[in-house]
Amino acid sequence: MDVREVFGTNTYYLNEKAEPCEIGRLLNYGVQHMGMGVIFLNKKRECVYANRHAFTMFHSRENLQELYKAFSSWMTSQGIEPSTASWCRLFENRDKERLFKVRYHILMGSDGKVVGYMYTIQNLSDIVENGTGEQYRLTHDELTTLYNKEGFTQATESLLRDTDKTYLLLYSNIKDFKLFNQLFGLDRGNGILINIGEMMIQNAKDDDVYGRINSDHFALCMPKERFDEKSFKKLVREIAGKVTSKSYSLHIQVGVYEIIDPKMDITLMCDRAYMACKSIKKDGVCEIAWYSDEMLVHALLEKEILSSFDFAIINRQFGIYLQPQVYADGKIFGAEALARWIHPENGIIQPGVFIDVLERSDLIYKLDRYIWELAAKQLANWKGTQWEDVSISVNVSPKDLYYLDIKKEFTELTEKYHIDPKSFNIEITETAVTSDVNKCAKLILELQKCGFLVEIDDFGSGYSSLNMLKDINADVLKIDMGFLRKTDNQKRAQVILNYTVDMAHELGMRVITEGVETQDQLDFLTGMGCTMFQGFYFAKPMPIDQFEELYKNK
Ligand code: C2E
Ligand code: MG
Ligand code: MG
Repeated sequence: MDVREVFGTNTYYLNEKAEPCEIGRLLNYGVQHMGMGVIFLNKKRECVYANRHAFTMFHSRENLQELYKAFSSWMTSQGIEPSTASWCRLFENRDKERLFKVRYHILMGSDGKVVGYMYTIQNLSDIVENGTGEQYRLTHDELTTLYNKEGFTQATESLLRDTDKTYLLLYSNIKDFKLFNQLFGLDRGNGILINIGEMMIQNAKDDDVYGRINSDHFALCMPKERFDEKSFKKLVREIAGKVTSKSYSLHIQVGVYEIIDPKMDITLMCDRAYMACKSIKKDGVCEIAWYSDEMLVHALLEKEILSSFDFAIINRQFGIYLQPQVYADGKIFGAEALARWIHPENGIIQPGVFIDVLERSDLIYKLDRYIWELAAKQLANWKGTQWEDVSISVNVSPKDLYYLDIKKEFTELTEKYHIDPKSFNIEITETAVTSDVNKCAKLILELQKCGFLVEIDDFGSGYSSLNMLKDINADVLKIDMGFLRKTDNQKRAQVILNYTVDMAHELGMRVITEGVETQDQLDFLTGMGCTMFQGFYFAKPMPIDQFEELYKNK
């Protein structure tokens, strides 16, 4: 057995005065008394040392090769890769069940090169033997060996029971982890979770409680005085960096809840930290958000919306408001149908309140289908009237593209209501288009073949607007003036707007400018060649009867 091979020179220069063999003896003694099995491999992965515990655990005599063989074949029988960071499995031998928790360590020299490997094996059999094995399984996560939700809750409760310190509860989410699993497979996904768990173990301090609550969500309870946002972010970035490869990068979002009442239900604390986590819109490698009570109000509202949505659809509580689309002289040519929730108790609810919520929970397609039908019905009602030439545009949410067969939905409506597709316009947002340009380019072409006009909504709000135009041949570009309001640099924004309008015209697209609020804006837009407008300057969205009244002598 050559201990030096794995302990390396590092240990020796810890104390230059001591004899190398004396340190070897001390280390050997220490490792023998560690209370767990230890197996060392050299860099060729040959077993060079194991302590007494390891031999006992695997019922091996003093023969390293035999011991390592038993250990390896157990690993294989459990379907575990030798380089899996941390795992926990039952070991069955001579009719006895033993629960071993194994951790794998790569040993690096001071030059950063691998000098060997170490397995530490903790025997949790006592827990099994005295009947608490089931308890262990109930409170621990098999994949990462960390606490699971149950274990985390229990441990956090007892941590908070007698302490004067203020604690924080942190809850993390890996952005788009489901997508990662789909792209790279469950094994790689699991590997990442195991690595994160391992790094939590390595970086946690004694008075921290941490665990994997479910799927890609980890939680950590730590004293507030020790939390420094900057260094925490740095650490998470390092962790993310270690499990990142060239083909993907991880974005970790962390919600922080400051525990005001330690007796509060731990699940509620987790919910609040998660609420903060979900509020993160930025896309950095590590983003942190602190919980505030407004988030709770927001979440309650969201819950209310979701729980009453189906009832509202069935009971026809949704309606459309029409916002006129006009030429510079105020002459109308079309209208946009905008959803409104006409709530029996709360009055008229604006789309800003419910569209996002429905999109996030994948229910938006139900509303959109309903709104499209209302718009189609309206076009049918206008046949043979003075509004016959007024077109109606409807909104298509990005998620609709995945949940619905858009072409089928719209052609069925034109057939059912005998309406001309030319007056039924379809608005697809720029962000929806950029999420899958090829799919959208194909869809737009198909819709145009069926006679529909396609408009790109909110053009200029994304980052790759111009790039997208080379692949998308829409009929109308809707540019939202809102972006002028949001910028400090009006002059530059105006130059961009001017070029965008010119370019759209050159590509054979018409331009509707939305959000026109003042005469000055109108003059300025007309000056750059815009002819079609939609905005509060002309009219706000309004109920259908008001719209008909206003434009009855159009
Ligand atoms: P959008 O499709 O871009 O609709 C235009 C929004 O801009 C409307 O807000 C309209 O009231 C507002 N607007 C129009 N002119 C002006 C103006 O001069 N100044 C300002 N400040 N705002 C103006 P609304 O009705 O609140 O709708 C907001 C968004 O909600 C819509 O933006 C659209 O993205 C979404 N939405 C509305 N109805 C539906 C729907 O049926 N389905 C889907 N998927 N989304 C909808
Ligand atoms: Mg729109
Ligand atoms: Mg718009």
